[in-house]
Amino acid sequence: MKILKFGGTSVANAENIKLVKNILQKNEGTKMAVVVSAFGGVTDLLLSTLNLASQQDLNYENNLNKIEERHLQTIKELFPVELQSGILSKVKSELNDLETLLEGSYLIGEVTPKLGDKVVSYGEILSSFIISEFFKSEGIELELKNGRELIITDEVFGNATVDFELTYTHCNNYFTNTPHKVTIIPGFVSSSYSGKPTTLGRGGSDYSAAILAAATKAEVLEIWTDVSGMYTANPKLVKQAKCVAHISYEEAMELSHFGAKVLYPPTIQPVLHKEIPIIIKNTFAPDDEGTTITKNKNGSGKTVRGISHVSEITLLSLEGPGMVGIPGISKRFFETLSHEQVSVVMITQASSEHSICVGISDKDAKKALLAINKAFEYEIASNKIKEISIESELAIIALVGDNMKSHQGLSGKMFSTLGKNNVNIRAIAQGASERNISAVIRKEDVKKALNTLHETFFEENIKQLNLFVMGVGNVGSKFLEQIRLQKSYLKEELKLNLRVIGISNSRTMAFHENGIPLENWQNFLDEGQKANSERFIQAIKELNYRNSIFVDNTANKTIASHYATYLKSSISVVTCNKIACSSEYSNYKELKKLAKQYNSPFLFETNVGAGLPIIDTLKHLIASGDKIIKIQAVLSGSLNFVFNNFNDTTTFHDVVKQAQEEGYTEPDPTIDLSGIDVMRKILILARESGHELEIEAIKNDAFLPPECLETNSNEQFFDSLIKYESDFQRLYQNAAKKECKLKYVAQFENGTAKVGLQEIPKGHDFYSLEGSDNIILFYTERYINQPMIIKGAGAGADVTASGIFADVVRIGNF
Ligand code: ADP
Ligand code: ASP
Ligand code: MG
Repeated sequence: MKILKFGGTSVANAENIKLVKNILQKNEGTKMAVVVSAFGGVTDLLLSTLNLASQQDLNYENNLNKIEERHLQTIKELFPVELQSGILSKVKSELNDLETLLEGSYLIGEVTPKLGDKVVSYGEILSSFIISEFFKSEGIELELKNGRELIITDEVFGNATVDFELTYTHCNNYFTNTPHKVTIIPGFVSSSYSGKPTTLGRGGSDYSAAILAAATKAEVLEIWTDVSGMYTANPKLVKQAKCVAHISYEEAMELSHFGAKVLYPPTIQPVLHKEIPIIIKNTFAPDDEGTTITKNKNGSGKTVRGISHVSEITLLSLEGPGMVGIPGISKRFFETLSHEQVSVVMITQASSEHSICVGISDKDAKKALLAINKAFEYEIASNKIKEISIESELAIIALVGDNMKSHQGLSGKMFSTLGKNNVNIRAIAQGASERNISAVIRKEDVKKALNTLHETFFEENIKQLNLFVMGVGNVGSKFLEQIRLQKSYLKEELKLNLRVIGISNSRTMAFHENGIPLENWQNFLDEGQKANSERFIQAIKELNYRNSIFVDNTANKTIASHYATYLKSSISVVTCNKIACSSEYSNYKELKKLAKQYNSPFLFETNVGAGLPIIDTLKHLIASGDKIIKIQAVLSGSLNFVFNNFNDTTTFHDVVKQAQEEGYTEPDPTIDLSGIDVMRKILILARESGHELEIEAIKNDAFLPPECLETNSNEQFFDSLIKYESDFQRLYQNAAKKECKLKYVAQFENGTAKVGLQEIPKGHDFYSLEGSDNIILFYTERYINQPMIIKGAGAGADVTASGIFADVVRIGNF
C-alpha cells in the first residue's frame, strides 16, 4: 500500500487537479490512500474570514464569496455541464453551513479555538469531495473517506494531540476491509474522542498522510508538492539551491523544524519508527527524482546538508544574579511557557547560569512576556532577576547535517561568513545531537545570510560579487566593458560571478536586482532615476547583498566623503579617485581602520600608476618585513606624455590638449600640470610605507606660471598656456642643450617628500621613459643598491580600468 499526499498548490485549480489525476493513473492497480489539502490559499482565506467575522467586520461576507467562487469555478472547469448540478448543490449546502457558523461568530463577536477548527476544516472537506468526484468521473474507482473518522485526537482545540492507538485501530479496520483500491482522504482534519472536529496544525496534511502510512505500514509515503524535493535551502529564496537526493529522517526533521516548510515537522515521527521511506515529489515535474528520506545516513559524507530559517522570531531573555546556582529556575521558566502553550524554537543558556534565552514565535511574544513577568514577580521585585527583555522581528537560521558533529570548524566558518557580510548574530545554539548549529539574526538579513551561507557550504566554487559602479565615463565604461568580456572566464577559471547591480553617473542612476545587462547598460542607465549619491548608498544598503563592492570611478570629492559609510555597512570600496587617500592623514587612517574593523576591503591600487601593481607590491614588501628607504619615481603619465612630445616643433598648448584628448589627464588638467596629482601619489606611497605625512608638507617645484593655475575653466587654462609658450620653450631648450630630458620627478626619503621638474641626463633610469609610462624605484633594506623597479603604462582609461578590475578580483579572493 502507498500513501500519496497532494499539497495546496498541487490541487489549487482544475488544471493542477488534472495533473494529480495523471499521477494516480500511473499508479493504477496499486492500493493507495490519497490525502489532499485544501485548494491552495483557501485555508488562509478561511482563517481571515473567521477573523473578520469575529471582529464584527462585514467584509467577511466578501471573503466568503471569494471562497465560494474558487470552489464553484473549479467545479465548472472540471466537470461537463450534465454532472455539475449534483456536485454544485452538495458544495453549496456545505458552504451554507459554513456561512451559518461565520454568522454566529459575527453576531457574538467572538471566536473560540473549537469554532476555529470547525471552520478551517472546510478547506479540506470541500477539496476532497470535489477531487474525488472528478476522479470518479474520469473512471477511477474510489471511495472518499472522512479523515475525521480515522484520525482521533484529544480535545485541545487548535492544538490537538493524536491518539495513535485509537487512530491506528480505526485505520486498520477501514483499510483491511475496504474493497476499494483508491481512497481519497481530506488531510489536516481529525476529530476528538467525542466526535468534535479538530485539526492537526498548519501544514498538517503532511502529518495526516504520515499517520496513515504508519497505521497501514505503507511501503512508501509520497509527498507531492510544488518543488522537486528537499533542497539545500528554500529554492524560492536561494536560486543556487540544489535538490538533495537522499537525506536521513533526522536531517529532514531538523530542516523542517527550522523552517523548511516543504515538510511539516511532526510528519517524520510516525514513519521513522516503522522505517517507511518518504519521497518528496513535484506534481509539476513528476519525472524529477525528488528526495528520498530514509533511516540511512547520507552516504556521500557531506557535512552540511541544508540551511533553513524560521522568521518572525522573538528572543526572550531571563537574566540576573539571583539565577546563579538556584535550582528550579529553568524548570519554572519552561513550565510557564508550556502552560501558555508557547513553543520554544531554540534555547541558549550562558554557562555562568546568569541567563537563559529562548527563541519563540513573534505571535507568542506578548503572552509569554506577561506570563514570565508574573511567574517571576517576586524575583524581579527583589532585583534577583532583571526585568524580562524581549527582542522581536528576528529570525533563526540553521545549518543541518548528520555528519556535522565529526567536523571541527563549521561554526567558525558559519559565523565568519555571516560576519564578513555584516550579519549581526544575536544568539547562537547548537543542538545536543550536534546535528544543527543555529543563529538568531535580524529578519531583514535572512535572504543575504541564506545565500552567503549557501555559497560557503554548497557552492565552495562560485563566489558572487555584487558591484555598484559610480561613474561611467572614460574609465567606468571601459571597466564595465572588461567585466562583460571577462565574465565567463572569471566564472570558469576564478570561480567568481561578477554582477553589476547598480550604476550611476552624475545625471541618472539605475539598479537591477539580478544584474544589469552589460550589453546595453547605457540605455538602462538613461531610463534610470535621477542621480543622488546619498540615495545610491541607501539603495545598496536596502538591497543588502552579500559581497557588495562600491566602485568609484569619479574624481569627485563628495563621493569620496562617503567611503566611511560604505565600509561601516560592510560594503567594500574600490576606487581610482585619489581624494580620500590624499586627504588629511586622520581620514586616510580612519578608512583603513574601518576596512579592517568591518572586514570590508578598501582598495585603491589605481591611485598610483594606474594599472601597475605598485601599492600591492609595496604592501607585500612591508608585510614581509622590508623597510622603505627611498622612493624615486615618475608618477604622472600625463606629464610624461607631455614632456615626451613637447619640443621645438610643437607647442605646449597642443601637446597638453592632445594628452587630454587621449584620456591621459584628470578631468581638470591643472591637477596634473600643477603637480598636485603627483603630490597626491607620492603622499599615498609614503603613507602606505608607514609614514604619517600631510600634503602640505610636500615641496612642489611647480613649473607652471601662477596665472595658468588660477584659471577658472579648462578653456581659460588652455588659453593661458598659449600666452606662456616662450617660457615652456625655454625649459625645453635649457634641457636639450645639456642633452637632458624633462621629467616630473617625485621623491620620498627620510620622511620627507618633494616633487618637481628635473633635467634627466642620458643613462639615468628615467631618461628613456616612453609615452605616458610611469617608473618607480623602491630602495629598501633588501633592495639597497639596486632598487626594485616597476615600469609601464601609467595612465589611460584602459589600464586604469584593468587596475580597478584587479582590485575587484582581489576582493573576490579575499
Ligand atoms: P504544499 O502546499 O505542497 O504542502 P508547502 O508550501 O507547504 O507545499 O511546501 C513547499 C514549499 O516549501 C516550497 O514551495 C518552498 O518554498 C518551501 N521550502 C522551504 N524550504 C525548503 C527546502 N529546503 N526545500 C524545498 N522547499 C522548501
Ligand atoms: N490546508 C492546511 C494548511 O494550509 C493543511 C495543509 O495544507 O497541509 O495549513
Ligand atoms: Mg505543506
